[in-house]
Amino acid sequence: MAEKRDYYEVLGVSKNASSDEIKKAYRTLAKKYHPDLNKEPGAEEKFKEINEAYEVLSDETKKAQYDRFGFAGANGGFGGAGSGFGGFDSSSFGGFEDIFSSFFGGGSSRRNSNMPRQGDDVEMRVDLDFEEAVFGCTKTIKVTVDEECSSCGGSGAQSSKDIHTCDQCHGTGRVTVVQNSILGRVQTQTTCPKCKGKGKIIDRECTTCHGKGRLRKTKDIEVKVPAGVDTGLSLRIEGKGEAGYNGGPNGDLYVTFKVKPHKVFKREDDNIYLDVPITFTQAALGDMIDVPTIYGDVELKIPAGVQSGTKLKLRGKGVSNVRSKAKGDQIVTVIVETPTNLTSEQKKIFESLGKLEAKKEKFSDKIKNLFK
Ligand SMILES: [Zn+2]
Ligand SMILES: [Zn+2]
Repeated sequence: MAEKRDYYEVLGVSKNASSDEIKKAYRTLAKKYHPDLNKEPGAEEKFKEINEAYEVLSDETKKAQYDRFGFAGANGGFGGAGSGFGGFDSSSFGGFEDIFSSFFGGGSSRRNSNMPRQGDDVEMRVDLDFEEAVFGCTKTIKVTVDEECSSCGGSGAQSSKDIHTCDQCHGTGRVTVVQNSILGRVQTQTTCPKCKGKGKIIDRECTTCHGKGRLRKTKDIEVKVPAGVDTGLSLRIEGKGEAGYNGGPNGDLYVTFKVKPHKVFKREDDNIYLDVPITFTQAALGDMIDVPTIYGDVELKIPAGVQSGTKLKLRGKGVSNVRSKAKGDQIVTVIVETPTNLTSEQKKIFESLGKLEAKKEKFSDKIKNLFK
């Protein structure tokens, strides 16, 4: 397969383009390459590419995902059964006809409401503890969505005998109206008034769903959160959104994470940051100290003469990347604490230390020497 082009490049807009600019660019290009209008070879591929780019860039969540993770973010490149990060579904693009009618003034006139349609996607935010995000976990979340009514199998009727093809539109859901106008006879298509576009008439409605064919239900859904997720990242769980219409597939569930901060550790991407206080003596003489990491305490060598603010790296003690599984580092910032409330014995030691330092070159002299 050919290398995919950047979505912004496809639409010819900058990364900071407003949603209006994106829409405008899309419309211009979609008209230009629409297969009904452009018979040149390659136009259809181009048209698909434009639509794919627009589908991602016109959706705030997908756009953010794409900006952050590229195609992997937008296309669900994380694998796993039935799940992937972000993701757009090219099958939800309803074909040329929909697009055509939507901007050539056709409006909804061509859409047949008894055609199978995919259910809507559902978005949910899930709060995670720091450790849950770092190590992964399984969360059970409550999701309220429309489900197909099990009593009638989605038909909305008490039995199959109660369903009849509409005699006014013969099941198409559309009727042709002929009007005489000053321009002559004008034929227009409109939604069938008898069946309201369903193409079917139901004698006795299902008592469970009252003819709707679907029911609102709250379900427990188990979400397997992979190790390394972070705030803003979302997981797509296929088919767990709203029920489809007329036998169409279900929508998807998007779970977006929000990670609570940790009391001690700070996280930036896959690295963990920690401030560690050490004493004057440890700074001057060096030491081996125990430092907490997300994997437990590890030994860290403090080099003699270390300055406050020095950053020491504990390689591989960070978070494992959600995609590559490569581990980040822990960065330890050494904070030298100046002693306070000295005992008289400590004071004496510092005083004699002071006398020793006075014999060495004075700091003030050092500065003066710089200007000589
Ligand atoms: Zn009808
Ligand atoms: Zn029902």
